[in-house]
Amino acid sequence: MSTNIACIWSLPGQSGLGKSTMVNTLFKSKVWKTTPPGLVGPMPKTLQLHSVTHVIEENGVKLKLTLTDTPGFGDQINNDKCWDPILGYINEQYERYLQEEILITRKRHIPDTRVHCCVYFVPPTGHCLRPLDIEFLRRLCQTVNVVPVIARADSLTIEERETFRRRIQHNLKTHCIDVYPQQSFDEDVNDRILNSKIRERIPFAVVGADREHLVNGRCVLGRKTKWGVIEVENMAHCEFTLLRDLLIRSHLQDLKDITHNVHYENYRVCRLNDSHV
Ligand code: GDP
Ligand code: MG
Repeated sequence: MSTNIACIWSLPGQSGLGKSTMVNTLFKSKVWKTTPPGLVGPMPKTLQLHSVTHVIEENGVKLKLTLTDTPGFGDQINNDKCWDPILGYINEQYERYLQEEILITRKRHIPDTRVHCCVYFVPPTGHCLRPLDIEFLRRLCQTVNVVPVIARADSLTIEERETFRRRIQHNLKTHCIDVYPQQSFDEDVNDRILNSKIRERIPFAVVGADREHLVNGRCVLGRKTKWGVIEVENMAHCEFTLLRDLLIRSHLQDLKDITHNVHYENYRVCRLNDSHV
């Protein structure tokens, strides 16, 4: 199996929420045996959409994983349409696929650059979603699978994280923003049980790091502070592993299926209704 996940990493407000670091964190995480070369921090400031691809192997299965890093948005005084570059990029990939699909002689395997999941970084304000987040998320969720995360969660206490999470969940519900895994796509009771548990935990409170440190004789990926190391793969410290397992292990195929059957299909129908391609 060759699989291709492309994640769009985006943040409302200033840059610096740890999106680029998270790209490294995902690739360096212990889920795969070998660390891909050439990934050492600190990350330069991201100025344009930029994709990184690595072929990784887990249990003999090869995955081609592409993460698309994006510059921060919402940095301007006027943030009107600041989502345009990201939504434009996502739609461009659908268009490419469509153009290949409608050829009389189609390729047996159409190159798939469609974005299967978008990990949306919410700044750790501890308050609630901002109008900009709501506007962006509303548009994004209609176009692509979206998993929101609380960025730089090490700046919040455990109680603050829980309160913030509940407020965000409430905001999403009030504004009918349907993040992944969408309840309406649960196929059976088992899906519903598994996905309900995930829905209770979203947005995951994550911490990113691209350095390894020695803790009690173990080499761990983490952030070294004066008080100790925040271990990104330790559930007592943050929920990075929940994000990683959702994206790469448990829901990888489902993300691809929903992209193809729902999001791409919506695009295709609108596009073919609108004009004769
Ligand atoms: P981006 O602008 O969103 O791509 O952010 P970067 O990944 O470039 O990170 C900006 C700064 O925040 C860097 O100094 C990172 O080391 C730091 N950083 C990244 N992730 C975290 C995190 O989870 N917690 C904390 N405290 N700092 C982080
Ligand atoms: Mg960046």
